[in-house]
Amino acid sequence: MKDPGQLIVLTGPSGVGKGTLIQRLLQDCPELYLAISATTRSPREGEVDGEHYYFLTPAQFQSQIEQKQLLEWAEYAGNYYGTLREPVMQRISHGQQVILEIELVGARQIREKVPDAFQIFVSPPSLGDLETRIRSRGQDSEDAITHRLNQAKIELAAAHEFDFQLVNDDLESALQTLKTKVLSL
Ligand code: 5GP
Repeated sequence: MKDPGQLIVLTGPSGVGKGTLIQRLLQDCPELYLAISATTRSPREGEVDGEHYYFLTPAQFQSQIEQKQLLEWAEYAGNYYGTLREPVMQRISHGQQVILEIELVGARQIREKVPDAFQIFVSPPSLGDLETRIRSRGQDSEDAITHRLNQAKIELAAAHEFDFQLVNDDLESALQTLKTKVLSL
C-alpha cells in the first residue's frame, strides 16, 4: 500500500501573496494538489465556480457543516470559508501532497484534527508593505481594507504557532525557500 501523503497548510494575512506563491509552486510541482475551498462570498471578477472556489449560498454552506463534509471552516470578513473533507482525505490516502490555503482559525482546527499536517505561515516584510499590496489590488472597499488590516495584525501575532515561517519580501527567493521546504517533507 502507498504511504499516506502529507497535508500542508499555508496561512498568512490576506494580501501577503499566498495565492501567487502557490500558483508558482504548483507550476513547478504539478504533483501537488491545491484544495478548492467552499465559500459564501461572491465571486470576484474572473473567478470561476469549481476552480477558484465552490461558491455556495449560506444555506448550502450550513448544510455542508451539518453533514460533516468540512474538515475545517471559519467566518472571515462576514463570509464563511471551509475545506471539503472528501477530496482532500482521498488524495492524502493515495499518497499525494495536498495544500490548503486557509486563514488562522481554520489552521488551528487542522492542527487539532490532523496533527501531522505541516503548517507554514507567510508574513509580509511589514504591515505598511501589506497595506500597499492590498490597496494596489483595488478589489476592496475602504471598510474591507480596514478589516483586512486588523485581521492581519491578529494573524501576524500567531505566526509563532506555525512549523515554518516565510517572509514574502522578494517573490523569487520566497518561492525558492517554499519549494525547498515542501519538497523536503
Ligand atoms: P479571499 O476572500 O481573499 O479569497 O480569502 C479570504 C481569506 O479566507 C484568506 O485568508 C484565505 O486564505 C481564507 N480561506 C480561503 N479558503 C479557506 C478555507 O477553506 N478555510 C478557511 N478557514 N479559510 C479559507
